[in-house]
Amino acid sequence: MSGPPPPYPGGPAYPIDNKGVPPPGQYPPPGPPPPGYPAQPGYPQQPGQPGGYPQGQASTTVVVQQPTIAVVQQFREAPVQTQCPHCAAQIVTATHYDNGTFTWVICLILCLVGCDFLCCLIPFCMDGCKDVIHTCPNCKAMVARWSRM
Ligand SMILES: [Zn+2]
Repeated sequence: MSGPPPPYPGGPAYPIDNKGVPPPGQYPPPGPPPPGYPAQPGYPQQPGQPGGYPQGQASTTVVVQQPTIAVVQQFREAPVQTQCPHCAAQIVTATHYDNGTFTWVICLILCLVGCDFLCCLIPFCMDGCKDVIHTCPNCKAMVARWSRM
């Protein structure tokens, strides 16, 4: 007579695949934390520092001084008092208007919206649509050009 083999021939009552892994029952069951535990998403809790910066570096007073960077003159529509880069004279720039990119863009926009030929020329008659050229009154050289785009 040969009966069926026993279901667990000499082994433990539960299968162990990985040695070192404790049998189930010692870990808390996975799932949501039990009620009463303050779950604050997105707010990492640092023990010992209740909501503050680390105060180990208190003497971070850095005086930023950049004397090497010259003051950049802002060339816009108004004349600017500056030093001419060509003749090195202290001047107040003379300004005049010239057709620039912005002028052509306005002209193109007027064409696209259906204006006729003469309306497209309006930007070329308006100083507010043109670039501003800053020239030196001393040596007549161009100092800067301010584009509206
Ligand atoms: Zn000059």
